[in-house]
Amino acid sequence: MSWDVQFRHGVWLPQAGWWLDAHRPVARSFVSHAHSDHVARHREILCSAGTARLMRARLPAARVEHVLPFGQPERLAAAITVTLHPAGHIFGSAQCLLAHDRHGTLLYTGDFKLRPGLSAEPCATPPADVLIMETTFGRPGYVFPPAESVLADIAEFCRQTVADGTTPVLFGYSLGKSQELLQGLASAQLPVMLHPQTYKLTRVYEELGLKFPPYRVFDAAEIAGHVVICPPQSGRSVFLQGIPRRRTAAVTGWALDAGAVYRYQCDVVFPLSDHADFPGLLAFVDRVRPRLVYTLHGFAQEFARTLRARGFEAWALGAPNQLDLGLADGSGGIDR
Ligand SMILES: [Zn+2]
Repeated sequence: MSWDVQFRHGVWLPQAGWWLDAHRPVARSFVSHAHSDHVARHREILCSAGTARLMRARLPAARVEHVLPFGQPERLAAAITVTLHPAGHIFGSAQCLLAHDRHGTLLYTGDFKLRPGLSAEPCATPPADVLIMETTFGRPGYVFPPAESVLADIAEFCRQTVADGTTPVLFGYSLGKSQELLQGLASAQLPVMLHPQTYKLTRVYEELGLKFPPYRVFDAAEIAGHVVICPPQSGRSVFLQGIPRRRTAAVTGWALDAGAVYRYQCDVVFPLSDHADFPGLLAFVDRVRPRLVYTLHGFAQEFARTLRARGFEAWALGAPNQLDLGLADGSGGIDR
């Protein structure tokens, strides 16, 4: 007997009677973090305190919330306990570790990154028998430079752009990436304006106890000398039209792809991600030491093949498992 892991619209664990990050409304789902591709209007949710607060800001709804502190086991169902561990992806992001009396342990990562972030709890790597992991950047070419050097490059780009009398505009997802940028720009000593959506979520981060350098909400009339942080925009967006003299930069792991400046319709790209890169994914598996791995998102089939070549039993969830046909299966596009 082992864990029964099924994939439909999210991961379904029939033995527990719970979904993991269901994409559509269901009766009971673990919600790993508050990004929009991981939340829906479920009847009952299991999540961290940070995710519960961020979800109330992003998707207010009547629901039963089971809010668990990190590291504290709770009974989830007959013969099953659950413990949440930080995933290091964004603030509040959690992995869930399930322990069954007979089937052993199962770890579901949600989105995660091993590198310490400036606005997320450090990622844990609890050992588990079965591992369900995200593999967004599961291809060998995705090796991110150190975050400090990328943040230093971003700060330099902002300083030079302001010195030219132009406004630097940084495209980053409004939850997680933007707050790390805000922290990372502190050393640049440049005043920062946030898109209203980013501003609102940053205020929630502050309510949750995080501290940031000074910032203000976007105001086109007083933009001179400021750095603007906003969600990715097309060049024709009303928001960008309010900033006639601008240089734009997308901040995303996909910056490593050829042609990223065209995809993001920006002047430059910087490779800073809230996801693990390829070496980070491998290091994570080595620390968890699972006997069976299911991969999810991005280059799931390719990463499962990589793990099989390293001696693990590994399968992609939610995708046909062509064995060694060399088919490209990445998704790209979003990095959140
Ligand atoms: Zn995410």
